Amino acid sequence: MAKPILKSHRIKADWCKGCGICVEFCPKKVLELDESDRAVAARLQDCICCRLCELRCPDLAIEVETE
Ligand code: SF4
Ligand code: SF4
Repeated sequence: MAKPILKSHRIKADWCKGCGICVEFCPKKVLELDESDRAVAARLQDCICCRLCELRCPDLAIEVETE
């Protein structure tokens, strides 16, 4: 199967409660909490499109789109 190519990775900042679950689950350490405890994609170039962040976010704040 061809490797998925990331089209967009969106984090709805106003839905994020800063629980850090996505940060913990991301196998490539793409995500971080910023100074106001919102998830941000700090190293998007390392994203392998596994969607764990999207699947694990309890607030449905993350949307991963692939090509
Ligand atoms: S899709 Fe996977 S690799 Fe990309 S940010 Fe989410 S958990 Fe990390
Ligand atoms: S799992 Fe969802 S609510 Fe929790 S820090 Fe990540 S984006 Fe925010």
